Amino acid sequence: MFFVEVILPLALAKTFTYQVSESEFLFIKKGMRLAVPFGKSKIYTAIAVELHQNEPVLYQAKEIHQILDHEPIVTPIQIEHWFWMANYYMCSIGDVYKNAMPNALLLESETVVTAQLSTFVNEIELSDQEYLVYQALQQQSSLKIEDIIAILNKKNVFPIIHKMIDKNILVLQEEISESYKPKLVRYIRLHPQYNSQEGLTLLLELLKNATKQKEIVLHYFQLNAIEKKPISVKKLVESAKVTAATVKALVDKEVFEEYYVQQDRVTYSGDVASKELQLSASQQAAFDALQNQFSQKNVCLLHGVTASGKTEIYIKWIETFLEKGMQVLYLLPEIALTTQLVGRLRLHFGDKVAVFHSKYNNNERVEVWQQVLNNSEKAQIVIGARSALFLPFQQLGGIIIDEEHEQTFKQTDPAPRFHTRDAAIVLANFHKSKVLLGSATPSLETYYNAQTAKFGLVILNERFGYAKMPVIMLVDLKDNYFRKQMKGHFSGALIQEISATLSLGEQVILFQNRRGFSPVVECMTCGHIPQCPQCDVSLTYHKYKSQLRCHYCGFAIGKPTNCHSCSSIDLTTKGFGTEQIELELLSLFPSAKIGRMDQDTTRGKYGFEKIIDSFKNQEIDILVGTQMLAKGLDFDKVSLVGIMNADTMLYHPDFRAFERSFQMMTQVAGRAGRAEKQGKVIIQTYNPLHNTIQQVTRNDYEGMYKEQLYDRQIYKYPPYYRLIKITLKHRDFDKLKEGALWLYQVMSQSLDMPVLGPEEPAINRIRNEYIRTIMIKIPQNKPIGSTKKTIQKIVNSFEAVVQFRTIRVGVNVDFY
Ligand code: ADP
Ligand code: ZN
Ligand code: ZN
Repeated sequence: MFFVEVILPLALAKTFTYQVSESEFLFIKKGMRLAVPFGKSKIYTAIAVELHQNEPVLYQAKEIHQILDHEPIVTPIQIEHWFWMANYYMCSIGDVYKNAMPNALLLESETVVTAQLSTFVNEIELSDQEYLVYQALQQQSSLKIEDIIAILNKKNVFPIIHKMIDKNILVLQEEISESYKPKLVRYIRLHPQYNSQEGLTLLLELLKNATKQKEIVLHYFQLNAIEKKPISVKKLVESAKVTAATVKALVDKEVFEEYYVQQDRVTYSGDVASKELQLSASQQAAFDALQNQFSQKNVCLLHGVTASGKTEIYIKWIETFLEKGMQVLYLLPEIALTTQLVGRLRLHFGDKVAVFHSKYNNNERVEVWQQVLNNSEKAQIVIGARSALFLPFQQLGGIIIDEEHEQTFKQTDPAPRFHTRDAAIVLANFHKSKVLLGSATPSLETYYNAQTAKFGLVILNERFGYAKMPVIMLVDLKDNYFRKQMKGHFSGALIQEISATLSLGEQVILFQNRRGFSPVVECMTCGHIPQCPQCDVSLTYHKYKSQLRCHYCGFAIGKPTNCHSCSSIDLTTKGFGTEQIELELLSLFPSAKIGRMDQDTTRGKYGFEKIIDSFKNQEIDILVGTQMLAKGLDFDKVSLVGIMNADTMLYHPDFRAFERSFQMMTQVAGRAGRAEKQGKVIIQTYNPLHNTIQQVTRNDYEGMYKEQLYDRQIYKYPPYYRLIKITLKHRDFDKLKEGALWLYQVMSQSLDMPVLGPEEPAINRIRNEYIRTIMIKIPQNKPIGSTKKTIQKIVNSFEAVVQFRTIRVGVNVDFY
């Protein structure tokens, strides 16, 4: 008898054995997809991982339904990597498989929809039927179409589901969310009515008295004659030396019309840069040093200050692999950053650059998957976020991980909860390829690995060209309040610097940390603050929509007119966020154009790109934003950066708070003065003497590193200890408490290492489920593999206890 061992796309820890005929046995190769029956009546897409003749002892092997591929679509290295991942991150192989593959390659017999968790849902805006579906998905993580038919008690549910998918509330499990809209480039062309000879005469007549506008039109013709390709608004503005507003006026007049092209999907038709990239002397030195290090090390860290031109060094490095016909993977922390980069890389590599990320639709993802699998030239360089790590590389030469310190490289939910950097290093090992990590503010773990010679290290300490590091000024908030020099949240110094910057026609970025600054509504009479009924948090006040919202579950109500507790009408708003800063700015600088970049304003279609675009085009003078501003954006007219309040980051209850504060402030500061002019940074704080703030001021990464490392050792944190967090969730508070205690006791008795908990996290209830966590600290001298095995055994026995069976357990390895 002949058998095939397969992985199923289900949260199952094991592989399964199916029976095949002899000819199937001879045809099937490891990495091919098979349609197999599982459970009572379901069909899944499984992947073959082994062919053998050992009949399973515990169950009768079923026969497969169908072979779906002629050739493997998954490589042996991928499968090896998946098993490593399941083992290291303590999750099921089925979870890894499911996460790794584009959904279009994983069709099932039944269509399932799930809630799009990242979408903020305003329940008030839902129709009654939509609300029912949405509610059902609060209880269950997914629904089959037939369940929805039952819930709504009607056959024709597709329109509703379609609508909810449009609103990005639902995702088909076989479809992927399309919430990401890639950057669209704004192009311009002559309105068709002027396309003829007569039209042209008409047009010139129309613009007879508008000299400026006529000039632009003529300029457009010139460009059109030389370029023979679409003309972007940006190009016209630059080459005609006019403002975007003038061009806009011509669009309003219907002389021009605008159209958009999705930039990263367009096949590249332009010329590859004719002149070769010229590295500066220090970039060249850094590049040579890297090459030298790579002759002994598989992983190197490029620690280069902001605007030192790390991207250019990456480009040189990529060239070395392309020459050998090898593939390169370029990982970024944030999808929104891909467009900027794709543009830069295409200049050098033309259409050898492909983009891949989870928010692409199925077809696009499958297309790139195939190109990578076939080692096609079109995808020799792949740019992507986390999910690109799972592509079927054939000849992977190098992996670049830009901004390696970024938290978004760690996947928190769903399983596998992997760290992209760490998983990439393992993948590179399987491929015998090299990994280049880059950052101006490396994570402590990475720097430690570089210091202990596990990784190579190259330091680039100067900015490219004439750009200098920004000057950093501290403003003592306590003193400013005391001397009544504050206007709202702005110190006199900050106001003065903003005025000066604006008067020079330069731009300003103001950074307001999101954490701890959610504005709330508070009763002046009894002190009551409205809470979310499903979560343990206060509702956040959104001024624009006059609403109170929960940021954890999406619950929302209109702003109350009187207190829910004592009915007093004396309500006040507390705390401040970007919205508040924006309002204050409007009254301080009434003539400035102000933009806001936060979760609210970037949520909509093209939100993020729109704001970045208008800021680049100087349609915005002052940009107020949160965390997103810290992520490697390159603006050349920003000469002032203000950090509204440095303290909220510092006092966040997290062992990384100081490290993260340093990274965040340094990165935000790094947006200032990236071109010729030296930038200025103002940090407002109650603790100007705090070590971390001093380190930021002195650009003293080493100082921060040494201090933090010392603390990590004393308080038993990474890199000295590895941390595993176990999260338990249940709706019944007492049951959860009992279960968590049981698990904690068994763990601390069986493991000879620190076990902490069971702890109630700061937010101890989300979506009506209570939460407890247990943390295990594994010292460096303990074998990590066998410790994890023990932990897994304990979790398994916990799940076997009848009264705890309904408690959900999640394991997060290296959870930080
Ligand atoms: P980093 O990623 O280190 O912050 P970037 O790679 O974004 O820095 O470079 C900063 C700016 O300097 C960019 O606008 C980039 O185009 C420019 N630049 C860097 N190196 C070169 C070079 N060798 N030739 C021309 N321009 C460069
Ligand atoms: Zn809530
Ligand atoms: Zn009250």
